[in-house]
Amino acid sequence: MPDQAEPSHLSAAACAPPASLYLHIPFCPAKCSYCDFSSYPRLGALYAPYVEALLREVEQTGAQWGRPPLQTVYIGGGTPTVLPAALLLRLLEATARAFELAPGAEITIEANPGTVTLELLDALRRAGVNRLSYGVQSLQPAFLRLLGRSHSAAQAAQAVRLARAAGLPAISLDLIYGLPGQAPAAWQADLEAALALEPDHLSLYALTLEPGTPLAEGVSCGAVPEPDAELAAEMYEHAEARLPQAGYDHYELSNWARTPAQRSRHNLTYWRNLPYAGCGAAAYSFLAGRRRGNVAHPRDYVARIQRGESTTAEEERISPKLELAETMILGLRLVAGVSRARFRARFGADPIAVYPEAIGESTALGLLETGDEAIRLTPRGRLLGNQVFVRFLP
Ligand code: SF4
Repeated sequence: MPDQAEPSHLSAAACAPPASLYLHIPFCPAKCSYCDFSSYPRLGALYAPYVEALLREVEQTGAQWGRPPLQTVYIGGGTPTVLPAALLLRLLEATARAFELAPGAEITIEANPGTVTLELLDALRRAGVNRLSYGVQSLQPAFLRLLGRSHSAAQAAQAVRLARAAGLPAISLDLIYGLPGQAPAAWQADLEAALALEPDHLSLYALTLEPGTPLAEGVSCGAVPEPDAELAAEMYEHAEARLPQAGYDHYELSNWARTPAQRSRHNLTYWRNLPYAGCGAAAYSFLAGRRRGNVAHPRDYVARIQRGESTTAEEERISPKLELAETMILGLRLVAGVSRARFRARFGADPIAVYPEAIGESTALGLLETGDEAIRLTPRGRLLGNQVFVRFLP
């Protein structure tokens, strides 16, 4: 529990217009074995009506907020690049009409190797996309098969070459570690293979077995070995040691970038607990002190937009106390931690005054450290972050 009396109102920062926009494309060529994201294969007939519906929500959201300047746009999924180029370009054009794009705005698109061509990437760059995030996950055939990925390691390498050839200035690769049967040496080989592609940014995620997925069922019936949490921690520590040697700066629990300018500015909006708009099926927004989620299935989403109905499936009012807690929890994901000056400017109080017990206990356990400028997780705390986060919850 927080150690302070409940504040009476949200911060001005939480009520500001959104400077970040997320657009969800819920389609994939096939469903990966570990995936419980909102993504659907075999819905090609829905691509065009879905984009029409999404354009309408983007237009309404831009109008509702008076066309605020966007610092970041993130087209995620799913696999956005399964859409025909013409639909993606319409979406980008509509976004630029519905909102103002701030000079130098970061525009990211997620893509899977095997779904991109030089023509598509070139068209996206000309339409303003300046950051590409590839879901590579592994560069070893056995693990790509285990994960049910529909691309090969050679296609991943080719996809990076195509993005460079198209002149995209920033390329990020996602990898997954802690896989069933993955020895540390296999992970190290994967990381080296990824580094050989010279990405600008890396996102490394520990595998989570999501109930109901084919991979989780394979593990529960004994057909697939159980992932080993201790080995996963060892793999994370290897990445933490290896990536700085290769010139990558660790800036968030799961993220490394070559330079501060190549950090994901869009995701920094989330980690700083600032407002964002989300459009599309299953997309979330944090606006005007409310977190709102859209209906998950794209068919339901399209039907509601066509009938002029609300697409909201869930809505939560963020209390001032929850805003404080989430600002700490999300901010501690950043390796630099929660800036005390930024926190004081937002809430009018120092984090230590607001959370003396949570901070004191976590510090005593060796999970948190307090400097003059920031409060941050220790290296051990980065492995056991949940033990810290839970202490800030209201
Ligand atoms: S590509 Fe990503 S979103 Fe699509 S099924 Fe695989 S893991 Fe899920």
